[in-house]
Amino acid sequence: MKVWLNGKLVAEGEAKLSVLDHGTLYGDGVFEGIRVYGGRVFRCKQHMDRLYESARRIRLTIPYAAAELVDAMDEGIRANGTAEGYIRLVVTRGAGTLGLNPFKCSRPNVFIIVDSIELYPQQLYETGMAVIVPRTVRPPARMLDPCVKSLNYLNNIRAKIEAIDAGVPEAILLNECGNVAEGTGDNIFIVRDGRALTPPAEAGILIGITRGVVFELAGKLQIPAEEVDFKPQDLYAADECFLTGTAAEVIPVTRVDDRTIGTGEPGPVTRKLFRAFREYVASGEW
Ligand code: PMP
Repeated sequence: MKVWLNGKLVAEGEAKLSVLDHGTLYGDGVFEGIRVYGGRVFRCKQHMDRLYESARRIRLTIPYAAAELVDAMDEGIRANGTAEGYIRLVVTRGAGTLGLNPFKCSRPNVFIIVDSIELYPQQLYETGMAVIVPRTVRPPARMLDPCVKSLNYLNNIRAKIEAIDAGVPEAILLNECGNVAEGTGDNIFIVRDGRALTPPAEAGILIGITRGVVFELAGKLQIPAEEVDFKPQDLYAADECFLTGTAAEVIPVTRVDDRTIGTGEPGPVTRKLFRAFREYVASGEW
């Protein structure tokens, strides 16, 4: 595998950073997870906008223009001969001193990995998957800005460990108000009386790009979609539930904790949106 590191394509084993990089020492940095379909970057501009916005919010200056990073992603795709894949674009604060001061770091490091990802087994897209509501709570937005897609995912990792311990692939975190927020790496929708509902930004979620695409597709399919706060009880009592994310795409959820959601099978609205998402991707018109 070839990795793009600070302007050059290098062999994976040669892609090395300093142990003094604050990305490693403190999780100080930002990233994007991006899909490659048919050798092209999905929703490229939106990912670039979110990356630069994440960086801006932590006063991290990315030492490349967005157009240069877009070229770099294309280079990585070509060098690895990737048609269907996943890109991890990471910007770390760079090597500094052992203190926290980010402004003592010399220059941010930027790297791009083009690889494959399979977050959930394929079979779950047909049967639906089981999730838990973990004890770990999503930190409030005033503590940790959820619009910053940072290298610090410890809270999500704690929730993921709870999921693994419970024998399920994903956990749906609540926020400090007890409202449903999001999964450890995906956004959540429930369906009630034919309406698709998802928590608003204020619930402390990352505004997912797949979530946005699902909103657009729901509009085209005349499925009412709304941002609204809801409680775990609403999740348990939902007719349907599904998750959205770059790696997950659209995946049905049919069990939450010890409750069966709806009929226990992926419901009609979920299926419609799932199909529409696949068709949209296949159309190449994004
Ligand atoms: N929430 C979190 C915490 C995530 O890490 C992700 C994955 N980037 C998402 C939601 C889904 O966002 P997207 O659709 O942009 O991948």
